[in-house]
Amino acid sequence: MSHHNSLRIINASVLDIAQGIILAERTILVRDGLITEVAESSSAAELLPDEEILDAKGKIVMPGLIDGHVHTLASTADLGGLASWSPNYAAAHASRLMKDMLHRGFTTVRDVAGADYGLAQAVEEGLFIGPRVVFGGKALSQTGGHGDLRARGSSFQDDHQCCPSISIICDGVDAVRKGARDQLRTGANHVKIMLSGGVASPTDRVDSTQFSDEEIRAVVEEAHAANRYVTGHAYTARAVNRGLRLGVRCIEHGNNIDDESVGLFVETGSYLVPTLITYERLKIDGVKNGLSESSHEKVDFVLNAGLEALARATKGGVKVVFGTDLLGDMQQYQSEEFRIRAQVQTPLEVLRSATLTAAELMSMEGQVGVIAPGAFADLLVMNENPLDDVTVLSAPDTSIAVIVKGGVVVQR
Ligand SMILES: [Zn+2]
Repeated sequence: MSHHNSLRIINASVLDIAQGIILAERTILVRDGLITEVAESSSAAELLPDEEILDAKGKIVMPGLIDGHVHTLASTADLGGLASWSPNYAAAHASRLMKDMLHRGFTTVRDVAGADYGLAQAVEEGLFIGPRVVFGGKALSQTGGHGDLRARGSSFQDDHQCCPSISIICDGVDAVRKGARDQLRTGANHVKIMLSGGVASPTDRVDSTQFSDEEIRAVVEEAHAANRYVTGHAYTARAVNRGLRLGVRCIEHGNNIDDESVGLFVETGSYLVPTLITYERLKIDGVKNGLSESSHEKVDFVLNAGLEALARATKGGVKVVFGTDLLGDMQQYQSEEFRIRAQVQTPLEVLRSATLTAAELMSMEGQVGVIAPGAFADLLVMNENPLDDVTVLSAPDTSIAVIVKGGVVVQR
């Protein structure tokens, strides 16, 4: 796909998410996939001969959305089964899932277990239609941890990097170091580790802590050495607080955090990525999507506490990022996360979490989540104003008029 395009968006009411205001009558200029100018209409540069024009009169133009927690490879909730699929078949499904994400207005996604450099490259080169993929490779899990998807009676684990498993198992400081280095050498933006039990894993307790202090410190050291960061899957305050004290810079889920957690997040400048829609869907139709009965029984532990945790974190000033974490056919409910968050956050808080704060977490400030010169031209032309009611983003088919990614109008 060629990015050597010129696009001019005229009569735009630009949503400035940093300030929380609408800038009326703007012209946005795009050259080769990047925004080069956001000017008052009267002072915009001369029209080029081959320029495409998009009239946004009466519409709101906002940055493309960022989902901070997805699994582009998880076309089934049976993650253990996924590991033995053909990688080509898994990639074919991933291309379908990513296209759907883009059509919901997500122009960047942060994949926190599963996606590799191959999927990111396929999108980059236009082979797959989808959001930019910011990936961490495979998550690191201890034996019997959240990323150990073997049944109790199974001892074999194929850790070949081309298997479409979302995690690898490593025990001991040397093994976790090598695991982290292996992900980082593929260009991972972060290293994901399992700090507590989880829902989709067959043999762990949700309220367990995972990895030793020494193992966590080793991963943190490796990530820091590479100028990257560690993100940890964790639910309970015990697991979250331990991770934050050991240098983990981001927590995924955090459904059962306490006030001490909030203090630690703020003190360390760490990020929280709640993923509320996934528990709602796992409760409703997880089993139908391949989730085992034993996993389904774990959902209640995290479902109800999640919204309260988001409220607590927001009130305490934690840097919150938008995330969804959906598996299998449940991925179609990605946009519903906006509806859930709107119960405890203001529209501006939700918008920031899905743009500016997510970009900051990924060290992509100024590149994504913002309409400004130098940023990728990832834009949504909205029929409705999400600053008034952010739940309009839960119905992307009606609220989004046009999606632009990298300066190219997305054909829906
Ligand atoms: Zn996840």
